[in-house]
Amino acid sequence: MKNTINNVDQSKRSTLAKLAIGAAAVPFASVLHASAEKLNAGKINLLENENGPFDIVIVNGRVVDPETKLDAIRSVGIKGNRIAAISKKPLTGAKVIDATGLIVAPGFIDMHAHGQQLPAARAQAFDGVTTALEMESGLFPIGTFYDITAAEGRPINYGASVAWTYARIEAKEPTMPAPDGTIVWFQKAFSKNNWQNTLATPDELKQILDSVEQGLKEGGLGIGINAGYAPGYGHKEYYELAKLAKSYEVPTYTHVRYLNSAEPQSSFEAYQELISLSATTGAHMHICHLNSTSVQDIDDCADLVQSAIDKGLAVTTEAYPYGAGSSVIGAEVFRGDDWLQRWGVPSASYMEANGKALNQEKVTELQATAPGTVVVMHFLKPDEDKQDRAKMDRSVLFPGAAIASDAMPWMDDKGTLIEGDVWPLPSNAIAHPRSLACFSRFIEKYVHEYKAVTLVEAMERTSLNACRILEDAVPQMKNKGRIQVGKDADIAIFKLDEVKAVATFEKPNALSAGMKYVLVNGTPIIEAGEMLLDSNPGQAVRNKIIG
Ligand SMILES: [Zn+2]
Repeated sequence: MKNTINNVDQSKRSTLAKLAIGAAAVPFASVLHASAEKLNAGKINLLENENGPFDIVIVNGRVVDPETKLDAIRSVGIKGNRIAAISKKPLTGAKVIDATGLIVAPGFIDMHAHGQQLPAARAQAFDGVTTALEMESGLFPIGTFYDITAAEGRPINYGASVAWTYARIEAKEPTMPAPDGTIVWFQKAFSKNNWQNTLATPDELKQILDSVEQGLKEGGLGIGINAGYAPGYGHKEYYELAKLAKSYEVPTYTHVRYLNSAEPQSSFEAYQELISLSATTGAHMHICHLNSTSVQDIDDCADLVQSAIDKGLAVTTEAYPYGAGSSVIGAEVFRGDDWLQRWGVPSASYMEANGKALNQEKVTELQATAPGTVVVMHFLKPDEDKQDRAKMDRSVLFPGAAIASDAMPWMDDKGTLIEGDVWPLPSNAIAHPRSLACFSRFIEKYVHEYKAVTLVEAMERTSLNACRILEDAVPQMKNKGRIQVGKDADIAIFKLDEVKAVATFEKPNALSAGMKYVLVNGTPIIEAGEMLLDSNPGQAVRNKIIG
């Protein structure tokens, strides 16, 4: 079997493996479905063009649809929030966007966006992102998060998984106030250690599972398992979470327990734990940022994950095209005498806070006095080292993986969250540059500079793969990530050779270049390169229980 399928892409391979195991494949139906469609090219159910006039027409653009592989000059007609026609002939409408010389692509879908604040969403729009979901860490209570966000309004679509860590903190830290659906509450919890380092008692476990289940009933997009931030959890707790996810047919999104190139307690071991849960419970286990949690051991880790997929397990992944990650300095991954060894780097200068390299003394001091301080940690230097570049490629180009930014919320230089109706980002706004440049960097590097993927293949990673990963649990995603009649008019219109990640670690808040128009649910949020500040067409994305 294996020899016959070595030369096809992962999703096909996965499909073939699933077909081979028959009914066991059902839980992961959409990937199966999507791939089966691909295997029988031309069998995607395309709707007929509707007649005009249209509300908006995008004329003369190079229209790219990663599912049908369309890559040709077309005009696109929009009615309301949907794409209503894609035509070789000119279309007429109330508003005309001239896309001559521009790419017209499905807006990018970010499965990993911690920055759920309004300025963070605006910044991501310039990176072509039309849907930004907080899946890995999640939020809690999930209903509160949706209410707060809807009341404020968003230019782009938003959503979140149910945060296991929040439920764990609530159960294990009685002196913490009740969670309020915000990341600020989570940051405060880093001053406590019990939730990070100790097993749950049977009563605590019951409370955690009840809370998480409540979040699923409120529309959470699965279970966010930020395990690396609470590595003291028990195997049985993770098993229970996987069973709960399976019972609701939603994915889990894990930042794995260990971040370590060397055994024992390695990243490899942590992936094995995750894979075993998919095998034993049937749960769809999504691995967050394969690049950053595999650190220097990416080849063996990627082989392991691929082997699980080849066996038909519902395991998916994502990556971002940077060799540095960001986190809070109080996290377990930066503690212990051997933390530098685990990262496989020579000194604490590989860690930066506020754009400045640290030393061990400063790291220890900040861990004691300001454990919520956001830091950047270099684990690969792909621009300087060929081997590091090959390692980054292995994760970013992993078959079937989505590009996902791990966008961090914006803080000022005092560590205060930047939120509310703020624009532009203040000059002292700090976050990892991937927070507004991940997708631009992927296009700039992998399409343009490295020529590693075609534009259609790139758009599969920026837009369609996230839908394939999510749409069984989140039917709304079936209408995203595609430029097809009847799909949501979430559209990024950009000049390919101008797409550029401008942000750097020194100047992280510089907006990405190249986005000329961005539409969300048929409404422009960026026009002629300018943000329309009063335009908030973003909608909540919720699971199938609610959505
Ligand atoms: Zn993470």
